[in-house]
Amino acid sequence: MPVLAGLTAATSIPALKRHPPMPTPTLSQSSPLVTTLLVCFILCGAAAGCAHLAAAPGWNAATLQQVPLPWSAADGLPSRTEIVAGQLVIHTDFPLAEQHRIVRELESLRADVSQQLGLPISDEPVHLYLFENKQRYDDFAARQFPGFPSRRAFFVETDTTLSVFAVWQDRIAEDLRHETTHGYVHAVVPTIPLWLDEGVAEYFELPRSEHGIHAAHVAHLSGRMLEGTWRPDLDRMEALASAGELSQDHYAEAWCWTHWLLNTTPQRRRLLQDYLTDVRRDGQTAPLSARLRHTEGLGADFATTLRAHLESLIPPPK
Ligand SMILES: [Zn+2]
Repeated sequence: MPVLAGLTAATSIPALKRHPPMPTPTLSQSSPLVTTLLVCFILCGAAAGCAHLAAAPGWNAATLQQVPLPWSAADGLPSRTEIVAGQLVIHTDFPLAEQHRIVRELESLRADVSQQLGLPISDEPVHLYLFENKQRYDDFAARQFPGFPSRRAFFVETDTTLSVFAVWQDRIAEDLRHETTHGYVHAVVPTIPLWLDEGVAEYFELPRSEHGIHAAHVAHLSGRMLEGTWRPDLDRMEALASAGELSQDHYAEAWCWTHWLLNTTPQRRRLLQDYLTDVRRDGQTAPLSARLRHTEGLGADFATTLRAHLESLIPPPK
């Protein structure tokens, strides 16, 4: 696992994703501490259905610098069953069959993500902690992440671990596809830009049968288009510096750019893959927008192109 604490490019690293090294540990000197951390968690929105937000108003990420590592069963983590499925180590507090559909699906997601994004497969473990009991999950989250709002699932990256925490509930498959995608991607591209990190996770959270078409995002963005309140802007997406800035619009647009890049032309798919390969080597590589302008021409109108792409995905009226 790369040590991210040494990264100093604060302007390009979202505040919640990359913490600077701590000046003075305040817990036991023998306890490993979180020095860098990324959190993505799931928020159930009101009218708009579910979206994924990575921060909540009033939540102070700085408090996470006090969290001791590693987590263990003694911290209230599930430990009844442990299943190893490829890169995944799944810990549950209830019986879970190794051949459970969700386990197999998450395992095959690894190859999907790797293939479509042109990324190598990593052997770095991604730990999934699945709670059957919501109260125990809430208690764990409250204890380990003080001030952290209670959510269905979240992903945490530290210097040394990639972990997903989730409650086993109706939407567990979608939640785990989203958060596990973060795990697979961060195992090989820890400095992936915030907007693309979420765009990719939104893309892969869907069942394979949906072919990456996120019906909720299509409906949301097409509504915005009708209102005249959505103008796609990749530069604006790339400028997002903190997960706390992300709205539902941002998640939907991030998904839309990702879908457009992966599903319109082989050249665009290749451009995305090459970009990720370069980000792996150098987090400061030229942004995707600059590469697009180079390959598609300086005069290309990407906003119009993306809107047209979205329109092509709107299902015909019944
Ligand atoms: Zn996410």
